[in-house]
This record gives sequence, structure tokens and C-alpha cells, in this order.
Amino acid sequence: NDVLPALKNDYIKAYVQPKVDMHNGHIIGGEALVRWQHPKRGLIFPGDFIEVFERTGLIYRLDKFVWELAVKKLAQWQKDGLNSLYISINISTKDFYYMDVYETITSLVEKYHIIPSTLKLEITETALMTGASGELDIIQQVRQYGFQVEIDDFGSGYSSLNTLKDMDVDVIKIDMGFLRTTKPDRLKKSMSILNTIIALTKTLGLAVITEGVETKEQVAELTHMGCKVYQGYYFSKPIPIKQFEETYL
Ligand code: C2E
Ligand code: CA
Ligand code: CA
Repeated sequence: NDVLPALKNDYIKAYVQPKVDMHNGHIIGGEALVRWQHPKRGLIFPGDFIEVFERTGLIYRLDKFVWELAVKKLAQWQKDGLNSLYISINISTKDFYYMDVYETITSLVEKYHIIPSTLKLEITETALMTGASGELDIIQQVRQYGFQVEIDDFGSGYSSLNTLKDMDVDVIKIDMGFLRTTKPDRLKKSMSILNTIIALTKTLGLAVITEGVETKEQVAELTHMGCKVYQGYYFSKPIPIKQFEETYL
């Protein structure tokens, strides 16, 4: 019952978490992450409501709303001459079922006249592997239109390597689970898997982002392995768009 009024009254917010290119230390973009500023319950995080939205079929309304916020912001930045700064949006598996993802995204681009390559689409490998709603074809179509597609949480599902074989994408976002290991022997294994994934992305000509970096040591080690782009608390938590602009632009 709270959802539709929340969309109407702007209680649904997009926060942004910066993506940093360690090559030159620049912020090259950010990921839009939804927050619900509930009038009675305060700030609610997606972990507490996305699943409910997915189960009740409301997710496509929420996502459409967040995507539009992102596109509007890109339009404003591009008006100010910031033509390469990008925003990544999240696409839920369920979105493919409830709406025409291609039509929705291209309409937004046309409505606000943004450069398509500045909107990146994050899709989990699980979503890609289901394939029940023609996801693979849609991915090819959106790429042809000029969007970049990122595989989110790479390495967390069952079919990561098959995904890479079966489809063309632009960016691999390595799952942060590899960094959350605490036991020293597991950490050693994790690091060697990360090293191999990064090398693999190179061979395949894909860009790679490591997500969830929290320490200087992690960034140093991953940079040594050949990763350049990062997203994580070490650089910044997700912050309101206004704060992102004031801090970084
Ligand atoms: P995700 O797409 O994998 O997003 C990354 C999550 O990791 C975010 O959580 C972010 O705050 C968190 N994170 C980033 N850096 C670090 C770090 O260094 N350490 C740790 N421990 N965590 C870090 P958040 O914002 O709570 O979002 C959770 C999930 O909810 C997202 O995971 C995504 O699957 C989903 N989500 C968020 N916004 C949207 C949206 O607009 N639409 C849809 N469909 N899903 C969304
Ligand atoms: Ca994501
Ligand atoms: Ca992720």
C-alpha cells in the first residue's frame, strides 16, 4: 500500500556510489542505488524491499522511476558539458517479465536527449542465464543501440563462464564476495581467483570493475593484478546525488 504513494511523493530516491579509475584517480561515473525515504520509518535500504517489489510485480515501476531519475541527471550533466560521466542502473530479472526493457530505456534516452553510452545497464548473471523472457536478445539490441552492459555480481552464480561464452557484454563487475573472506587460507584462494578473472577479462577484451573494495591494501593488490576501476566504501559509500555533485563535480 505504501509503494504507489512513495513513487508519487518522491520518497523513492536514487543515491550514487562513485566509480573510480585508479589510472588517473578520476571519478568516471557512478551506480544509482535506490533508497526509500519513508515518512514514518526513515531511510530504508533496497535489501529490505526489492524482494517484495519483485514478488508483487511492482519492481518495474520502481526501476522505471529510478532509471528516469538517472537519465534526467545525465541530461543535466550533459547540458553542463559533462559528456563522459556515466550512471549505471540496475535491472532486475523481473523487469524483463513485466515490461519491454528495450522500449523503456530507449524512450527515456529519446525523451531527455542523452548520449546512450553514458547510461550503463547492470544485470546479474543469474538474470542473463534464465533467458526465459528473451533477455539475451534484448541485451544484444540494447548494445546495438549504444548502451553498455555490465554483468553484476560476476562469479556469485552458477554459470559465470557460460555467460561469457554465450553473450556479448562490455564490463564484468566482480562480486564482492571474493573480498569478504576473512580466513587467511580462503583469502589466498580468493586472490588467486580474482587474479584469474581479471586476466580472463583482458583476454576477452572486456572492462573490469571490482566492487566492494574497503581497504587501501585491496586496491593495491587488485591494481597489481591489472584492475583499474573500483567501487567501494574505501572511496565512498552511496551518497545522495546532490552530495555526489558537490563532492566530485
Ligand atoms: P548491487 O547492485 O550489487 O549493489 C552494490 C551494493 O553493495 C550496494 O548495496 C552498495 O551499497 C554495497 N556496497 C558498495 N560498496 C561496498 C563495500 O565496500 N562494502 C560493502 N559491504 N558493501 C558495499 P545497496 O545499495 O544496499 O543495494 C543492494 C542491492 O539492491 C544491489 O546490489 C542491487 O541488487 C539492489 N538494488 C539497488 N538499487 C536498485 C534498483 O534501483 N533497482 C533494482 N532492481 N535493484 C536495486
Ligand atoms: Ca549493481
Ligand atoms: Ca554487485
